[in-house]
Amino acid sequence: MEDIERAAKPFNINWLNTAFLLGTPPLALVGAIWHGLTYGITWVEGMIFFVWYFACGLSITVGYHRLFTHRSHDARAPLRLAYAVFGAGSFQNSILEWSSDHRRHHKEVDHEADPYNASRGFWWSHFLWILMDEHVGEPDYTNVRDLQKDWVVRFQHRFIFSIGFLSGMVAPALLGFALGGVGTAIGGFVWGGLVRTVFVHHGTFLINSAAHVWGKQPYATTNSSKDSSWLAFFTFGEGYHNFHHTYPADYRNGHRWWQWDPSKWLIQAASLVRLSDNLKRAPKWSIETARMETSFQRAASDAATEHGEEQMNVFQARSKACCDGLRSALRQIDAKRQQLKQVGRDKRDQLVNQLKQAKMSVKQVRGDFQLLLAEMSLTPRPSHS
Ligand SMILES: [Zn+2]
Ligand SMILES: [Zn+2]
Repeated sequence: MEDIERAAKPFNINWLNTAFLLGTPPLALVGAIWHGLTYGITWVEGMIFFVWYFACGLSITVGYHRLFTHRSHDARAPLRLAYAVFGAGSFQNSILEWSSDHRRHHKEVDHEADPYNASRGFWWSHFLWILMDEHVGEPDYTNVRDLQKDWVVRFQHRFIFSIGFLSGMVAPALLGFALGGVGTAIGGFVWGGLVRTVFVHHGTFLINSAAHVWGKQPYATTNSSKDSSWLAFFTFGEGYHNFHHTYPADYRNGHRWWQWDPSKWLIQAASLVRLSDNLKRAPKWSIETARMETSFQRAASDAATEHGEEQMNVFQARSKACCDGLRSALRQIDAKRQQLKQVGRDKRDQLVNQLKQAKMSVKQVRGDFQLLLAEMSLTPRPSHS
């Protein structure tokens, strides 16, 4: 039914977006080859490429995504301005437009109203949705009213193309000129402008396409989002997309300290120098319980054919007991740690003991849960009567 309705809509191609998105990759390739043959390539071009790659890429992942769209933390005006300037140079439209689309993506994920609905296929969610305007008419910014109050967002939206052209194309060329004359200026434009634009574009696009196709689902199976560490490596940490869809207001996407998430590290670094604050995190007890519940659901869908309904209800009840136990023990640990920071020496020993007990409970619950999973995976013996 949905397909019939969609086919009946006029087929609108957005020619500006199409020319830009399909034109930049061949232009970047030809430009890089021609520049290399004519002027030779030096470390300056490489340096400009990486500086702009990080500046523009992080302005999208930290600025557009985690700060403006999800309000996962606050940032002072100079930082917001930097994200707005280099985000514009990523050529992914204004903060207002981007955030409005992305909030709709989270709200309607995998459904018709999701602008990059992954259930319509890899290429649709990757970038066909940008090449085609399905929803013509006045843009609807009702879901980003809060952002319209920010002068940085309003200013950027008004001058988006000029800011983008200056920060994304002219500035790398100017730096190249300052460092090595005309040949390096062209190199700066080709590598810092064109080649970098293509890389940042497709890095972002892969989160809408690949991160909804390949990877694991440790935190929720209610939508198509996946966690992928290799994708995180190329996307400033955004590859932990299943975690992100489960906890969109968390400033981290890779929530474990060792998970590759340069966006999270930038937010932490900015908070150390007081340019960012109010960093939001999902509580550990919520994250770990979600993980346990999800692994039970996965095991249950495999086990349901082997075990009867009655047995499955027993498993379900045991899983719930484990999840409740884990949540409560992890909450205890958190509370005791907070108290430890405040009490004097006389009460420390008691608290340390309670902390140890709570940690033991976590171990115990996790053991019980592993046992449950093992039992569920066993094929029940046929009963001989
Ligand atoms: Zn998504
Ligand atoms: Zn998001």
